[in-house]
Amino acid sequence: MIIERIDTYPCLYELPTPYGDANGYKKYRSCYLIKITTCSGIEGWGECIDWLPTLDVGFRERIIPYLIGKNATDRIKVSKVIKKWHQRAATAVSMALTEIMAKATGLFVCQLWGGQWHERIPVYASFQTYQESADWTKHSLQIVSKAVAEGYSMAKVKIGGRTVKEDQAHISLLQNELAKSMSFALDANQSYDVATICEWQSLLQKWSNIMWIEEPLPMERINDYALLRAKLPVALAGGENILNVKPFLGLCQQGAIDIAQPDPMHEDGIDGYRHTLETMRSIGVRVSPHVFDGGLSRLYALLAQACLPPWGKMTGEEIEPVEWDVMENPFTEMISLRPVSGYVTIRQGVGIGVEIDQDLLAHYRWDGRMYQA
Ligand code: MG
Repeated sequence: MIIERIDTYPCLYELPTPYGDANGYKKYRSCYLIKITTCSGIEGWGECIDWLPTLDVGFRERIIPYLIGKNATDRIKVSKVIKKWHQRAATAVSMALTEIMAKATGLFVCQLWGGQWHERIPVYASFQTYQESADWTKHSLQIVSKAVAEGYSMAKVKIGGRTVKEDQAHISLLQNELAKSMSFALDANQSYDVATICEWQSLLQKWSNIMWIEEPLPMERINDYALLRAKLPVALAGGENILNVKPFLGLCQQGAIDIAQPDPMHEDGIDGYRHTLETMRSIGVRVSPHVFDGGLSRLYALLAQACLPPWGKMTGEEIEPVEWDVMENPFTEMISLRPVSGYVTIRQGVGIGVEIDQDLLAHYRWDGRMYQA
C-alpha cells in the first residue's frame, strides 16, 4: 500500500459564452485531477479546483514529493498535513486514497463507508442564470424549460446579479411558465442585505414551490440569518464555502439555516465532508450538497448521500437532493452518470464503481498558459 506515483491532469475549457451569478461571469471551467498509484499497482483518482498554476506548482514541488513513499492507509493523517499547504489539494488526495482502500479490500466505496441506504439519489438542475446578452431572461426560460423536458422537477436559479425588479420579473416569468412542473431554489450568493431579501417576502408568500433561499446574506451575518429565518415563509440554506463541521454547528446552534450545503471539494477532505453530513443528520438539520465544480466530486457527493440514513417524511423526500451542474462544462462528462427523471442511480462496483474518461482529460489538458482566474 505504499504510494509509488502521482500523475496530475490539469484541464481547462474556455467558455464561448460566459455565464454567471451575483458574483460575476465565469469565463472558464477547469478541473485538476490526480491519480495516485501504489507499488502494488492499485490506482485511485482525486479531484480539486483552484487556479491551475497554483495547484500545479503545489503538487509538483511539495505535495507529490511528500506523498511518495507514504502508506495509502494513512489517508486522514496525510490529508491533515497537506491541508496546511492547500486545503483543496488535500481533498483530492483523500478521495484518491479512499478509492485505493476500497479497491485493496475489493469493496465498493459505499461498503467501505458502512453501507448504502439509497439506490438512487434525487438531483436538482443547477443554473448560472446570467449572461451578458440583453435577452438573458428569455435564455434562462429556454434552458430551464429544457430541464423540465429532460425530467428534472427541481432547479436552482440565481438572484442578486441584477436589480431586485429585474430578478423578480425573471423569477415570475419562470413561475408563470413552469411552476406546475418545477420547484425552485433561489440563490443570491451572499449579495443581499436583510431589507433587500425582505422585498421578496410577498412573492415568497404567494409561491408554494420554493425549496429554499440560498445564501441571501454574507454567511458571517448569523444574527441576521436567524432574524430572516423567523420572518420568511421559506427555508434558508447555505454554507458552500465552509471548511469543516464547526462553523456549520455554529450556524445551526444559532438558528441561522434550515439546510446545510457542504461542498466535498471545500471541506476537510472527503472524510471531513462525511463528518459534516453525519453531524447535520444527528442534530436534525437537512443537508443538500453543494457541488458545482467537477464530475468526480459530484460522484463522491452522490456516494456520500447514498450512505446517509433516510430523512424524515415531512418534505416527502427520502434523502435530500444533490446539486447537478447542467451548464456547459465538459468536465461533468468525465463520469458517465446521467439522471433519469431527476434521479441518478448509484452504479455499484469495486472502488468508485465507474471509470474516468481519460480521453476527455487528454483533450482538455491545460497547456500551461496563463489565464484569468
Ligand atoms: Mg450557492
